[in-house]
This record gives sequence, C-alpha cells and structure tokens, in this order.
Amino acid sequence: MSYKEDGVLELKDLNLPSEERLKKGPVAVFECVENIPCNPCVDACPFKAVSMEKITDTPKIDYEKCTGCGTCVSVCPGLAIFVVDLSKEKALITIPYEFLPIPEKGDTVKALNRRGEIVGDAKIIGVKKNENKTNTVTIEVKKEVGMIVRNIKVIK
Ligand code: SF4
Ligand code: SF4
Repeated sequence: MSYKEDGVLELKDLNLPSEERLKKGPVAVFECVENIPCNPCVDACPFKAVSMEKITDTPKIDYEKCTGCGTCVSVCPGLAIFVVDLSKEKALITIPYEFLPIPEKGDTVKALNRRGEIVGDAKIIGVKKNENKTNTVTIEVKKEVGMIVRNIKVIK
C-alpha cells in the first residue's frame, strides 16, 4: 500500500543518505514528500545543505554538507525531519516532539515506528526545549531499528 492511501511513509518513499554516509555519523533524514509551499528548512540550515528551486519543491539535501546539527528539525512545521546517527553501537535519533509530558534525560520510553506501533524501548539521551519552535528529543535505540523508529510514547 502506498503512503498516498494510508498516510504512512516507507523507506522506499524517501531520498535517504547512503549507507556509507549514515555510518559516518549524525545526518538529517528528511521525510518530506509532498509538494507543499514550505521552505523553513532551507533558510535554517547553517551549512547550506538544503536547497530547493521552487517553494513547492521537496527539499534536496547535500548529505556531504550536512553535519547532523539538528537545527532544521525544530523549524519544520511538518515534523518531517529527523537526525539519525548510526555510527555507534546503538542508534541515536533526534525527533521533533510536540506532545506532553515532555520526557526527561535518562527516562525510558516506548519507541514507535511510522505507524505508531511500539517496537521496543528507547532511552532519552537529551531534550531540547526550543522557545517558539518545536522541542526536540534525542533517543537511543537498538541499531537495527534506527531507520524504523520515528516517535516515542511517554508513559508516566
Ligand atoms: S541537520 Fe543541520 S546541517 Fe543537516 S540539514 Fe539540518 S540544519 Fe543542515
Ligand atoms: S520545513 Fe519541513 S515540511 Fe517544510 S519543506 Fe522543509 S522538510 Fe518539508
């Protein structure tokens, strides 16, 4: 089934960094596939790694310029950008997070896939509260689900 029918993206729908780039260290993963008039990610990137010709284009990423700094994650109104680091024993994922309660560093939460299904536990590594922008949460999960986990469920 296509995301146009059920709204759920799959890896095959995305223009991803190469496996080699993913293994090098943190890098942005853009899950933005609709031709909507939107471009805060282009202006926000301090490394000029994001571009588009027309405002209705989907963003084009230069993965060699991207440092995985995460600046773009908190400005994306579509909550469509993540930073993934597969260079270590476990995967680190920075996700945009607009729900409450906001988890705290050290908490263990549930890791969710793109369908919102629980696929395991995630440890909160860091929380960045951004005034007037989306908060971001960095989680640690098993490496094999680094490209699958895209949200969390906080159970307090
Ligand atoms: S993670 Fe940082 S360097 Fe990479 S695209 Fe986003 S803002 Fe640019
Ligand atoms: S800011 Fe987000 S939704 Fe808008 S074009 Fe960039 S990635 Fe897509």
